[in-house]
Parts: sequence; C-alpha cells; structure tokens
Amino acid sequence: MSITNNLETINSKLPEEVKLVAVSKTKPVSELMEAYDAGQRIMGENKVQEMVEKYEKMPKDIQWHMIGHVQRNKVKYMAEFVDLIHGVDSLKLLKEINKQAKKHERVIDCLFQLKIAEEDSKFGMSAKDAKSLISSEAFLELKNIRITGLMGMATFTDDTDQVRSEFKRLKTIFEDLKPIASNNCDLKIVSMGMSGDYAIAIEEGSNMVRIGSRIFGARD
Ligand SMILES: *Cc1c(COP(=O)(O)O)cnc(C)c1O
Repeated sequence: MSITNNLETINSKLPEEVKLVAVSKTKPVSELMEAYDAGQRIMGENKVQEMVEKYEKMPKDIQWHMIGHVQRNKVKYMAEFVDLIHGVDSLKLLKEINKQAKKHERVIDCLFQLKIAEEDSKFGMSAKDAKSLISSEAFLELKNIRITGLMGMATFTDDTDQVRSEFKRLKTIFEDLKPIASNNCDLKIVSMGMSGDYAIAIEEGSNMVRIGSRIFGARD
C-alpha cells in the first residue's frame, strides 16, 4: 500500500472532529512530500533537530508537532515555527518554551503529557501535578505559552481492556481539569491513539491521533 492509500484509508475511518498527526519520524522528506501531496498538513516528529531539517526543506503551510520528550536546550531551535508541543511535563520546560516563544513574539500551544500507562515510563505528569501546576501563580505568569490539552500513551500490549482503561483515565483527567480555564489554559485537545490503538482511543474520546507506521510503514 502507498502512503497516499494509507492516508485515504485512515481518513475514511476518522470522525470529523478527530485530527490526524502523521508521525513522520525517521522517514525521508520524499515520503513526507507524498503525504503532503495527498493533503496531509500536520506532521509529528520526536527529535527537534530532525524536525528543523525537514521544516527547512518543506512547504511552509505544514503544521509541525513535536511529539517526543523535549530537552530544554533544544527548545530554541523550534520556537520560531513549532505548532504544538505534545510532551510537556514540567514547569521548568514550560518556562523555557515561554522564554523562547517570547523572543519570537508568539504564543506556543502545548499539551501536558500525562502518565496513564501501568508500565514504567519515564515521562509524564500525574493528574495531581498537572492540576496544581495550572492553578499556580508561576504558571499564570507565562504569557507566551498556552496549554490546549492533554496527551497520553497507553501501555504497549495486546490487552485491549487495559489500553481502553488507560485511555478512559486520560479522558477523565481531561474532564476534571477542563473547568480550570485561564488566559493560558484552555483544554480542548485529547491527544491519544497511535497505529495500533487509535480506534480504541477514538471510542474513548480522543480528538487527535498520532499515527506513524500505518501511514509510512514500519520504522527501522
Ligand atoms: C512514534 C510515536 C507515535 C506513532 O507510533 P506508530 O505506532 O508508528 O503509529 C505516536 N506517538 C508518539 C509519542 C510516538 O513517539
């Protein structure tokens, strides 16, 4: 199957309100261009340097999403153009994004990455940490970032009941935090679901799926 065909198949299954992030990490620009020519405009990368290189070579109407864990010293390279940062999990990182966004006189949209998987994963905040962060004075001072939603990854397992309950957990946290709105916090996006589990994620309330291998084929 071609990239164009894969995109067509996936898009035909996505409800209208669900946005598709085409996860293009490790793939060459020529393959991203095939997705672009098929109409795909949101690309997801997990390494800042790789995203910058692709950004420079590709049409400027692409929305670049950073889906990986971000090191603070790399934020400056993408601050000018990044459309959404999915993996924010600390005030320290948020402060750096705010600082770099300010230099470019822009507001950068971010998602909090929540830890929902049972398996040990290094990244992601607890619901409690996310709640106290968005309610804090330090957070409200950050004028050049905006938290627009939550992101989570389910355990990599064949146990669909477990995957479903982890996605349910993220949706529940989202509904719980949603009322805490402010100038820089307006929760609208629930980013969950990848190639293997996006159908379950959508059933559980996802409105943004991040799909790589089902579009571009397996990565090395
Ligand atoms: C790689 C990656 C994806 C896409 O994974 P596939 O299984 O290839 O669809 C989605 N989200 C994150 C955070 C990733 O790192």
